[in-house]
Amino acid sequence: MKIILLGAPGAGKGTLANGLIKKLNIPTISTGDLLRNEVKSGSELGNQVKDIMQSGKLVPTEVVLKLLQNRLALGDTKNGFILDGFPRSLEQAKLLEQITEIDKCLNLVIEKQVILDRICGRRTCKDCGNIYNTNTYKNQKCECGGELYAREDDNPETVAKRFDTFVTNTAPLIDYYKNKGILENVICQESADETLQNALEILKK
Ligand code: AMP
Repeated sequence: MKIILLGAPGAGKGTLANGLIKKLNIPTISTGDLLRNEVKSGSELGNQVKDIMQSGKLVPTEVVLKLLQNRLALGDTKNGFILDGFPRSLEQAKLLEQITEIDKCLNLVIEKQVILDRICGRRTCKDCGNIYNTNTYKNQKCECGGELYAREDDNPETVAKRFDTFVTNTAPLIDYYKNKGILENVICQESADETLQNALEILKK
């Protein structure tokens, strides 16, 4: 199954994706992670996009699309995949259609205030990618023993900008996929487990 996760920054796309991977046995492709890997590697492309990401704006589509196409070309996507963070605009949605069909678009529904409370406490494991929140997880290390880090763009200023970018560029995709008949709303206000159960119920339909 080919799934898109749509939702504001901090809505829980990454956490839901990590849960779905285990249940559906298909990989998640996060364009944010692909870009962060480039930044970390110090590649020319990484240096070009670093400041854009830090400002909370969108990286040029052609750059993200190239990374996405390279990732989709790896053999592990033949039974499907979960896209986290792509598409983020109508332009990207239309380009995606030229590369692959999509079965379902899960729209993560959450109030803005819950996001703002959550996102600045987000911590990610350097080794396994598991995501925690300092409000609910008090350990300094991941359950796998890996070190936890806060993303550079999870600060209040960049988060506010990323939220605006979402409303302007990405929110129109909700209607776009609704009109295609593949949009499903997932309420993700509560715990990660409940959100995962909601999503699995919807995917079973
Ligand atoms: P994310 O991890 O999905 O929150 O993405 C982090 C940052 O990477 C975003 O704020 C953008 O600057 C950039 N980014 C990720 N995916 C895309 C995309 N599909 N189009 C443009 N920029 C993106």
